[in-house]
Amino acid sequence: MTLNVETPDVALDIELTFLEDRPRYGMDLDEWFTRAAEAEAAARELGRTDMSMRAQLVEADIIGRRGDVITSGQIYRQVNAWAIENGHPRLLVLSHLRLSPYFGQLGDYPTALEHALDAMKAVAEMGDGASAFLRWRSVMALADALADVDDITGARLRYAEAERLSIPLRDVRVRLRVFNNLAFTEHQAGESELAERAVARILQLAAEHDVTLDYNTLDTVANVQLGAGRFLESVQTLLPALDDEYAIAYEEVGSRAQCLVTLSGVHRRAGELDKAQDAIDRCRLLCEHRRLSGVAVDVRREQAEIWAAAGRYAEALEEYKAFHAAAMALISSERDARAKTLHAMYEADEARRAGARAQELSLRDPLTSLFNRRFVDVELPVLLGQAEEDRVPLSVAVVDLDHFKRINDTCSHEVGDRVLRVVAELLTTAAAGAPGAFAARLGGEEFLLVLPGMDAAQAYLWAERLRVAIQGYGWRPTTGDVPVTASIGVATSAEGFRTQEALLRQVDVHLYAAKEGGRNRTSDGPLEMLMQKAS
Ligand code: GH3
Ligand code: MG
Ligand code: MG
Repeated sequence: MTLNVETPDVALDIELTFLEDRPRYGMDLDEWFTRAAEAEAAARELGRTDMSMRAQLVEADIIGRRGDVITSGQIYRQVNAWAIENGHPRLLVLSHLRLSPYFGQLGDYPTALEHALDAMKAVAEMGDGASAFLRWRSVMALADALADVDDITGARLRYAEAERLSIPLRDVRVRLRVFNNLAFTEHQAGESELAERAVARILQLAAEHDVTLDYNTLDTVANVQLGAGRFLESVQTLLPALDDEYAIAYEEVGSRAQCLVTLSGVHRRAGELDKAQDAIDRCRLLCEHRRLSGVAVDVRREQAEIWAAAGRYAEALEEYKAFHAAAMALISSERDARAKTLHAMYEADEARRAGARAQELSLRDPLTSLFNRRFVDVELPVLLGQAEEDRVPLSVAVVDLDHFKRINDTCSHEVGDRVLRVVAELLTTAAAGAPGAFAARLGGEEFLLVLPGMDAAQAYLWAERLRVAIQGYGWRPTTGDVPVTASIGVATSAEGFRTQEALLRQVDVHLYAAKEGGRNRTSDGPLEMLMQKAS
């Protein structure tokens, strides 16, 4: 008897979870809305207010995507209030997760952050009841909200966590979201190297899984390419913004408009003013048609730039004035004040919880500006996972300077520091020659190079070149007669060392062998022995 009563509830729960959890790519907005509305009617029939609320959240999201942002926000808030009043954990999480980007979109970043933190708290309270997808979504919302209040380090760590959480979800769109948001954040922060790394992952994932990118991602990729001065690639990336067929598949009007603004800027910088004007005209139409007030401000700025580039200064000035007025209206000082207050509260809270965590959170070594061990701990497991998934090897090299104490003692600690900085530069140069590679300072005079895609033999030869470069550097002005050399250990995941722990343990064994063998040498165990036999 209970079974009969429960069955329709269970079926409805499954349908709602599908509508909530599944990324909607490829699903038509109307079809999606119809299914949500049917679910809402079914919930009412069953007298399940909670399920009706869940259906309404889905509907509100679609209403917002169709352009009625005000109504969607009202529904989010009503559902949120109901969830708080009735202590409904899942609805609490879902409504906070909607409200966070909603406020972010309005430029009210502190309120967005508050909702993201509330979502995290509610997920924690759900315990095992929270799905992997829900966990991923709340970590992403927190990362996005932190990025918007310029806590880049905090955001970066959450994106790394979101990346880990995304792997078992087995959905390439979900992973692309992580790298898109990360690339955008790094680009905004001026970390072009990190932005390029994220973009490389996006392009690699898209190619591997044969998927097209949504407008939001295209805009990010194009901006990073533009930042690196690659105009042609940037234009190529943005071509789908002019394609109405593409637009039907990805119903993100705002992001498409943003792509058109970017495209106009690329053409303008390349001196192709007609093409720039064409792109911005199309964008203006889109903004008027769909009432996109945020992008409309950018359109005015871009139009002013086009006129200035064409030498039409009077028009440029008028347009610039209009832009300025519109921008000021958008960013009210009140919002700004609230932003600062709320973020200060959040920071104080975090600081209390974790003491000196701020310093710990840094991912760079202050002396050499290389990445630090913390970064390695975040990045290496991800790269190892990626390498295993792609069935390619990943090698590491540990570089330890020989008799470094002698340099400190004979010269000075200051000279020692200078040596460390030069070695860091040599490592950076070496890493730049290997795609995807990066260098980190593990501590003291010990460095790590991560070499994705390289097998043992490649890594060995590559490390040997580096060793010779360190030895051959013109050290005399710095250390006088004291030579600077390094011993290097090399290890590869292809020999069964698939975890960070196993790989680093193995590379240490090889480093020790290099030291024991007389220093100023590279050891990777077996290959080194073969080479010695051969010579
Ligand atoms: P080995 O060839 O066996 O590696 O000998 P070593 O002297 O290089 O190795 P050891 O690990 O005994 O000494 C490392 C020294 O590096 C000790 C420490 O004073 C020095 N050191 C660690 N960090 C820094 C730093 O930031 N600046 C300077 N100048 N020296 C440092
Ligand atoms: Mg040493
Ligand atoms: Mg050492």
